[in-house]
Amino acid sequence: MKMIPDRTGRFPERPHYEIEELEEECERIIESFLMSRYGQYAIPVPTDALVALLERDTAKVNLYCDLSAEGEEVHGLTEFYPGSKPDVSIARELSLQYWREHRKRSTLPHEYGHVHWHTWLYDRYCDRHERHKCLRGEMVAADGQIDWMEWQAGYISGALLMPRSRMRLHVAAVGSERGVKGQLDGESIEGQVLIQRTSELFNVSPEAAGVRLRQLGHLAS
Ligand SMILES: [Zn+2]
Repeated sequence: MKMIPDRTGRFPERPHYEIEELEEECERIIESFLMSRYGQYAIPVPTDALVALLERDTAKVNLYCDLSAEGEEVHGLTEFYPGSKPDVSIARELSLQYWREHRKRSTLPHEYGHVHWHTWLYDRYCDRHERHKCLRGEMVAADGQIDWMEWQAGYISGALLMPRSRMRLHVAAVGSERGVKGQLDGESIEGQVLIQRTSELFNVSPEAAGVRLRQLGHLAS
């Protein structure tokens, strides 16, 4: 990790992590948490485990929060209190509407990304309560720049739900069953099979599975 200027103006400087650092830290966190909770590296990561991981490192998690006044499409909110643990609120419709399970499963580790990777910045640079809202569309700020906090939390969400070592095992098994090797085209039939299987195994949306497969180079981007 190295510190570079923060163009969003949120902090004087902000952390830049190498992909390798994010991958290793995500794998370490989720594996050790699941091993201590279940005695095994459970896949798909149970949704309750994603909640419990958040609860471990926050003061309060509210899964039934009315975030409608925060603006359209706000699914998660992390509130930082310098010197104390943050609070996380998740839009209640993600828990009440069963068909939004995938969205709930990606929002929980997204907020965990802010909790684990960003709390120290608020401790260091802020002296008052700050609210960080996460929009469904995410990432792109008003000026067209990618918001680094959203980018990092989005990457972390995928890496916690689909840990790299487990993705490698999975892709190798699908490849051997289907008789295909190497990087696949996401639009091809075999690419679509791989996306579908990844969605099935890790209990994520096909979109999230496709993004993760491209990040790890299993699908051509
Ligand atoms: Zn966010």
